[in-house]
Amino acid sequence: MLDGRFEWACSEIGTFGVRAAELVPLGSIVWFPCPKCPRWTVSERQDLSTGVDSRLDSWGYPLFDGSLLVPCSGAQMINHSCDPTVLNVGLDFGIAVRDIEAGQEVTVDYSAFDTNETRSMHCSCRASACRIEISTLDATNPAMLRKWSEQLKPAVDAMRKVDQPLGSYLSRWSQCFRDLRAGSSLSELSCGDSVVRPGFCS
Ligand SMILES: [Zn+2]
Ligand SMILES: [Zn+2]
Repeated sequence: MLDGRFEWACSEIGTFGVRAAELVPLGSIVWFPCPKCPRWTVSERQDLSTGVDSRLDSWGYPLFDGSLLVPCSGAQMINHSCDPTVLNVGLDFGIAVRDIEAGQEVTVDYSAFDTNETRSMHCSCRASACRIEISTLDATNPAMLRKWSEQLKPAVDAMRKVDQPLGSYLSRWSQCFRDLRAGSSLSELSCGDSVVRPGFCS
């Protein structure tokens, strides 16, 4: 589910992407894998043609059990950047790690999605810090985890203070949201089934 302050738009990174229609402040929860996001189990994926499975895989991400989730309501169109505006590592939602200006494209780091296999892709995100070749192994690099942790801490602090248009859904479906609102730190979160990628949670 995607926060309603975002919309599909043409992108300089991919053909299409997601942009903020208004200023969305640091700490806003931008999207989360809700129960309405379409999912395909391992056996359901085996029944799909290779082309369909590959297309779905390009929009979604694999879960711990090998099933595939495609984020709903437009969140599947969010592009990768090596300097993303949104991070999800260790969380069951994506959170803005800086203010996202009206008209600015929303990006995540694809290497911060968990997968059962090592994947890599050539990157043309245009960020000055572009890694050129990104891999799911990037998320096992201690320096990368440190960098994400430093970005997430102020975002989580701000999360408790800013308006959260998705708040009523998150209160119901996000364990991380409930724990953080109750005062837990990133390292105290438990990695439930919906955490996009374990990182800091125990
Ligand atoms: Zn959804
Ligand atoms: Zn890049």
